[in-house]
Amino acid sequence: MTQSLEGKNALVTGASQGIGRACALALAKAGAKVGIAARNAGKLQAVAAEIAAAGGAAETFVLDVSSEESIKAVAKEALARLGTVHILVNNAGITRDMLLLRMKRSDWDDVLQTNLTGTFLLTQALVSGMMKARWGRIINISSVVGETGQAGQANYSASKAGMIGFTKSVARELASRGITANAVAPGYIETAMTAVLDEKQRDAMLGQIPLGRPGTDDDIAAAVRFLASDEAGYITGHVLDVNGGMYM
Ligand code: NAP
Repeated sequence: MTQSLEGKNALVTGASQGIGRACALALAKAGAKVGIAARNAGKLQAVAAEIAAAGGAAETFVLDVSSEESIKAVAKEALARLGTVHILVNNAGITRDMLLLRMKRSDWDDVLQTNLTGTFLLTQALVSGMMKARWGRIINISSVVGETGQAGQANYSASKAGMIGFTKSVARELASRGITANAVAPGYIETAMTAVLDEKQRDAMLGQIPLGRPGTDDDIAAAVRFLASDEAGYITGHVLDVNGGMYM
């Protein structure tokens, strides 16, 4: 087990399952103390127990990234219970898929609020600690569809493309403080989010993946752990595609 993140504190949103859970485990196994945040307290407890069983340290935070109030409260609590958050993984995300003509305003607002505005507000709330430490890692989980677009996902694709623009701007603003900001753009990863696809849709996705298999949450976690490390210190404003070659 490498301990390259010893002495670092991390906060991962959407860590109650899927990609966020895998990222939290990977960061904890690398030695970071990890704050795991999401809405479902019971699932967070289960992930915290998994981290403890793997020899890691975790704190749970009930967080709704669509609520500014909740973000502010958790940012304060994280500082008190974790200390400075050195590594922030903005992973919480939702879909509300619908073709443009039938998309409700609320489907647009919910997705932008959760995926993009939540990322902005939480980053803003935590960045001053990284600035004081003169070391930080902001890692935003975007998506391949933020780069390619996707029929039926105008809201989701816009939010994920927005995260890429946000990442690059923040990377430029914070570089002089020793803080890097990068995006990870997963392709088709088998989690609860993609479990709603039917057989035909799944086969169509697989047909677009040169490596011939869906991705796993561990594939994404490995990229996140790397971007969080000292070894990735000269990488900033980058979009790391982890998609089996689906988009290159
Ligand atoms: P998932 O299994 O549905 O997990 C989503 C996570 O986000 C859950 O832990 C959920 O926890 C949390 N979440 C949702 N709304 C939240 C809110 N308002 N406040 C706090 N937490 C919230 O999905 P996943 O596949 O792991 O996706 C993780 C990220 O990867 C998302 O940003 C997604 O867009 C991105 N991504 C996924 C894929 C893929 O193929 N799976 C591809 C590209 C990008 P609670 O319900 O407990 O709050």
